[in-house]
Order: sequence, then C-alpha cells, then structure tokens
Amino acid sequence: MRRVWAALAVLTLVATACTDDEDQPPQTEDKGAGRPLPSTPVDVGPAGAGDPYFPTLGNRGYDVEHYTLDLDYDPGTDVLDGTATIDAEATEALESFNLDLAGMEVASVTVDGDDAEFDRDDDELIVTPAEALGEGSGFTTVVAYSGVPDAAIADSLGIEVGWVTTDDGAYVLSQPDGAHTWYPVNDHPSDKAGYSFEITVPDPYVAAANGVLTDRTTAEGNTTFVWDAPDPMASYLAEVAVGNFVIEDGGTVGDVVIRNVYATDLADEAAGVTGSTPEMLEFYAEQWGPYPFDAYGVLVVDVALGVALETQTLSLFGPDTVGDEIILAHELAHQWFGDAVSPARWRDIWLNEGFATYAEWMWTQHADGTPIARTAEGIYRAQEPGEQTRPILDPGPDGLFDGAVYERGGLTLYALQVEVGDAAFQEILRTYFERFNGESVTTDDFVGVAEEVSGKDLDALFEAWLLEIDLPPFPKAPPPAS
Ligand SMILES: [Zn+2]
Repeated sequence: MRRVWAALAVLTLVATACTDDEDQPPQTEDKGAGRPLPSTPVDVGPAGAGDPYFPTLGNRGYDVEHYTLDLDYDPGTDVLDGTATIDAEATEALESFNLDLAGMEVASVTVDGDDAEFDRDDDELIVTPAEALGEGSGFTTVVAYSGVPDAAIADSLGIEVGWVTTDDGAYVLSQPDGAHTWYPVNDHPSDKAGYSFEITVPDPYVAAANGVLTDRTTAEGNTTFVWDAPDPMASYLAEVAVGNFVIEDGGTVGDVVIRNVYATDLADEAAGVTGSTPEMLEFYAEQWGPYPFDAYGVLVVDVALGVALETQTLSLFGPDTVGDEIILAHELAHQWFGDAVSPARWRDIWLNEGFATYAEWMWTQHADGTPIARTAEGIYRAQEPGEQTRPILDPGPDGLFDGAVYERGGLTLYALQVEVGDAAFQEILRTYFERFNGESVTTDDFVGVAEEVSGKDLDALFEAWLLEIDLPPFPKAPPPAS
C-alpha cells in the first residue's frame, strides 16, 4: 500500500482531529527494558485467527491450500454470483469451522460432496459438515453465494475496502480486511493459499485477476476469463477487476510474463509510464533474489484511488498514482516483501511498508544517483517531534498506514545497514527472502536472520527503532554511496 502524499497529509489531519490518545492506550504489553518483542496473541476461539487487531478475522482449526473462485458478475446490476471451492486441511479435529463472509446470500454449502449445515453470525459463516473432520484430514468446501458486495470504510485508511463498484464494473482493494466482502475466506495473511479464478462477464467487458490468463472463452454474449495464480497468496492481495479494459502484452523478463491491464480510456497514458517495469524488476531481483511469481504487471482502473496496492502479480493503481515512478517501484518491491513474504500478524506491517519504503530509496539511488544515505537523512530530519504516538512495531489497527510505519520502517533498515555494513545487510535481505518466500513471518523471524547473518546481537538496535516513540540518533558512519 502506498498513499499519494497529498492524501496522506489530509488523512493525517483527520486522524489528529478525531483521535483522543487517552482513550486509546498503546497496544504493547510491557514497556520494561530488555523486553522481548511483543508476540502474545489473544485467544479468540474459532471465529478469529488470534490477531488482536482484527479479532474476528481469519479462523482457527484449518489451513487453506487453494481457492477456486467461479464468479459471474454483471456490471449492469452489480450482482455477483459466486461458487467458492476451498481445499483445506484440518489442523485439529473439527465438528464445525468458520469462514469469513460479509453480506451476500449463501445458497448452499457442501463439504466433501455432502450437504453441510451452515449458519451466519455477523461476518462469520459457520459450517457444520455431515461428518466431523479428523485432525490432518484434507477436505473440500463448496460455497454457493450471491448478492451485491458491500465494500466498507477501513478505519486505517478512510477509504472503501473490499469489492468496490465503478461506473462500468468493479475492482478489489482489500488491505487490510476487505477480502471477505466478496468471497468466503480464511481472511488473514497467516493462512496463504493458491488461487484460480473463472470470471464470466457480459461482452464487451474484460475480467482481470491475479496470475496468468490461461483461457478466454466467449459464448452467448458472455466471456469467461480464467486466471491462474498458484503461488501462496494472502487474502488481502487477491484481485478481481471488471470493466472496459485492455490487456497489454508486455513480453517477458526472463521467465516472468509481463502483462498490464488498463482502463481503456487510460491505456495510452498508462503504457507510457510503465515502460520501466522490466528494468525495475531486474534491479530488485539482482538485489534480493529471483522475482517470486510467474507474472507481473499493473492494473490501472479509471478511479482516483488516493493509494496504490501491491495486489499479488498485478499491482492496483489509479490515474493519480500510476504516473509516479517511486510508487511503481514501491508496489513492485512489495512482491518480494509483503507478498512472497507476508506478515503473520497485522502489527508487523512495518515488514511490508518499511521494506518497500527502503526499496524506493534504492530505486532513487539507481535511477538518479541520489545516495540512500542522503535520502535517509532527509527523511530523518523531516520527522516532526510529537507526530509519532505509537511504536511502529504495533501501531494499532487504525495506525497501520501511518507515515511513521513507512519512513521510520525504512530508517530501521538503514540503521541496520549502517550497523552491519553493506555486504552483510544485503545478505540479510537475501537470506530472509529466500528462507521465508511463500510464508508468513513475524518481526522475530527477521531479527533472527539479521543476527544469524551478521553474527551481532541486534536487540538494542531493533528495540530502539521499532518499540520506542522517540527517534534514536541518526545512524553514524553512513556507508559510501555504491
Ligand atoms: Zn506499501
């Protein structure tokens, strides 16, 4: 996620006006010296994955391997007819289990081909299979549902998240909690899964989704688009968009298919600014390791979103963000850090945004020669005393996208680079990516790699940058520009 700065300024003002800090205590448990990084989840039962930021998001007791979403969408009525086929494994014995789903009418649920009982409780879909599931058993749930999806305003962003309708279709912007507005899902990044999409829309509309377009079949005035995204993906990164689009073939970079999806009216303008994608992709792959997916490209919808989002393999932009090369770099960098390696809890969001912000500085150094050290110092000097009210490791559910999570997050990596040196720093990032590609991680996982690779005790550095409010001194002895 990356806001345009003008929007950030406006949203910061709104947040300041509406926030009474005395009513919202910080969420770290312990302020004592030498404390461990916070890691205790709350126990919320089967209706949640144990993330205190969103107690009912995600679910306990099973691990999804694959979602097959067969969707029929009519931009004329906004009605979405869906059949979700969910392949999962029970991680404990289950007499019933929950999925997350907001609104929508559920017509039927089967488990392993047998009708299952189901119940609704707010945004929970509670499924009771005909036969209980044994621990370790694989099972397939099929949910038939329909309705007009209802996107909701996210407290952390002040914008609609979920399935958002437009004049000529819809797009999905789900971070952090919008995925369950349009399909039944274990809606938490700790449970990643592969996806297949079969989306049928009336002609001449185009349906785009994550991954590679593998089939496109027209019959009786409708076209079905089949998109395949087999690599593990967090639910908030799933993208479907329908509208008047053109799909641009951008060739390949090595084995990676480059394809972009543009709102027809914006296609010429967008194609003019996304030409740097192959060079960016090669640059980051050289730094961190091979690009983790089969495809990459951007989706440009004809809506000024105020943000861009790193939807996996197909980053989402509007006309207000696609022209900014730094934001293009930010969302591409997220494919490594955020998408391939995802946060296991939302409090660890700096692992996404700090890394993508640091990646912006890397691209700036590469593209125009401005040393990372100079960019970092400029960002550091611009920090306003008193502006940050919470530690960036645990910014609170409404502070997920605060500027500090981005800028201080990037500065945390810069401080690490200064502490361990350039070569060890690069090796830390490469090792972290290679080890956790396809997984969900906590800050402890990153700190563990940093200490292992560097051979240094880095607790004091990470505590000062991640858990304190006051800024540490600017890191001394910045490395020479490379
Ligand atoms: Zn971001």
